[in-house]
Amino acid sequence: MADKRDYYEVLGVDKNISDDDLKKAYRKKAKLYHPDLHPGDAEAEKKFKEVNEAYEVLSDKDKRSRYDQFGHAGVDPNFNPGGAGGFGGGFGGFDFGDLGDIFGSMFGGGFGGGSRSNPNAPRRGSDVESSVTISFEEAAKGCKKTIKVTRIEKCSECEGSGAKKGTSATTCSTCQGRGQVNVTQRTPFGVVQTSRACDACGGKGKVIPNPCGTCGGKGLVRRTSEKTVEIPAGIDDGQAFRLSGEGNCGLNGGPNGNLIVEVNIRPHPIFERQGYDVYCEIPVTFVQATLGAEITVPTLDGKVKLNIHEGTQAGDMFKLRDKGIKRLNYSGKGDQYVKILVEIPKDLSKEQKQILKEFDAKTNDKNYKKNKSFFDKVKDLFD
Ligand SMILES: [Zn+2]
Ligand SMILES: [Zn+2]
Repeated sequence: MADKRDYYEVLGVDKNISDDDLKKAYRKKAKLYHPDLHPGDAEAEKKFKEVNEAYEVLSDKDKRSRYDQFGHAGVDPNFNPGGAGGFGGGFGGFDFGDLGDIFGSMFGGGFGGGSRSNPNAPRRGSDVESSVTISFEEAAKGCKKTIKVTRIEKCSECEGSGAKKGTSATTCSTCQGRGQVNVTQRTPFGVVQTSRACDACGGKGKVIPNPCGTCGGKGLVRRTSEKTVEIPAGIDDGQAFRLSGEGNCGLNGGPNGNLIVEVNIRPHPIFERQGYDVYCEIPVTFVQATLGAEITVPTLDGKVKLNIHEGTQAGDMFKLRDKGIKRLNYSGKGDQYVKILVEIPKDLSKEQKQILKEFDAKTNDKNYKKNKSFFDKVKDLFD
């Protein structure tokens, strides 16, 4: 397409022209270049097409504003493979009626409105989303869950044909199976032949005289069913997994969509998860921390024994290798980290307090290194 002229210029109108005046200007120009008045004149034909194209855009509010904003690119006529082509042949008589409306409808399908897709082409079914809530442990180890899925399935009554049992679809008599019908339209410039999708069969070329009662002839039904799904070990909260081909049924033999299951994980009272590692906090007594002890720690694999050494401090972390969560889609596991909380005893009896006081009297700086170094620092700073 060579340099295109400005549409307003083509119609010889001002940018602010009203719809009525636009229509009038268009009629004038269309009459001027009509092919019937200039048989065999390629230049006139070109001009006629140009005028039609300009009017098609400027008479449409959306297209006009796009054109005003972006110029020809906003209403790219290359997007219109056959729009003006209809005018190539067969202009018979003359009958100037309401041009605007007639051309509006004629061009309607060509520009922007898009290429009509073939209703018989295979189409993939869309994806279906579902969700499931599982426990921390189930996520860590994987599990099977039964979920409810609502999806479009092939009608089992007619096996997707849409026809009542014992009957079948027949060739559409309106379009003889073509799916398209020719439309003869009388226009001010004569009779124009166009084709459009057949109404009788919706462009499919076949009709179902006795539709299936279950699906109403669609061949598809919406159904909610229970489905047992295998949830992979290691999945984390908010993650989803996909079951290929378990979504909505495809059309015309197209593949099914997928089922996407989002997983929600209930929080655990003791464990917290970071990646594939598990964290927990275990309270010990200050005597256990001081003297060292063997403590019991819950893990995903049950209880295990953990030795905490003499002089364990509050906040010290112990690692239990491979006691974490199985890695999603890989072998191996994360680790478990145990953080030590030291519980300071409360509600002590007189006797207990007395023992502690005696004990305290026998401690020295060697027993409390941190305490000593801290107060040494304070001394340095303030004295
Ligand atoms: Zn059916
Ligand atoms: Zn038909």
